[in-house]
Amino acid sequence: MSELDCIIASYSSFEIRVRKMLTAFCNPYCRVCTNLCCKSYFCKESISAPFLSLIREHFPALLPYNDSRGWLTETGCVLGVGRPPICYEFICDRIADDQPDLLHEYVLKVLSRLVSHLGKNAAGHCHLVEIVTSDEFSRISYSRFRKRLFEAENAFSAIISFFGNGRVTNEMISALAKVVPKPKTIVL
Ligand code: SF4
Ligand code: SF4
Repeated sequence: MSELDCIIASYSSFEIRVRKMLTAFCNPYCRVCTNLCCKSYFCKESISAPFLSLIREHFPALLPYNDSRGWLTETGCVLGVGRPPICYEFICDRIADDQPDLLHEYVLKVLSRLVSHLGKNAAGHCHLVEIVTSDEFSRISYSRFRKRLFEAENAFSAIISFFGNGRVTNEMISALAKVVPKPKTIVL
């Protein structure tokens, strides 16, 4: 397996796990909400970014891309993997404000940034989705990607543990802070 194939496999597997957790978390709010957060201009990045197109070659969408609706259908987004990272980043005020305290809000924010974190500075200062031509895939640093993956996996484990039992350790906070610095307002 080439390094690029390893990156695609690891990235996709990680994105799927994060998507499932975020979807399970947000669904109780989103399914009764009339606001439509998905916008076709967000979907477009999945078409314009060669890395996301490559992911889609490996994991085709359930339905073809639609120029006006993007990937959105009446039953939601049909892109299971290869979504623009920004799709995961948005946590609306309704969801954020419903968290029992600042710590829960912070952990949720870290969860929403994991996919973005994974691709950061993959090729120089370029995020994986900012690579503009497939010729530039050779610039991707495999060792940097592995480091990001390690950080993102550690933070994800901390999130799963926290949402499971509500407890947090200093080690978990250190893992979360690699993705999003802990606000000073959170005192443990
Ligand atoms: S993220 Fe918030 S605003 Fe968007 S659909 Fe879900 S509940 Fe509604
Ligand atoms: S989640 Fe899917 S439908 Fe929504 S903006 Fe992102 S790619 Fe488009």
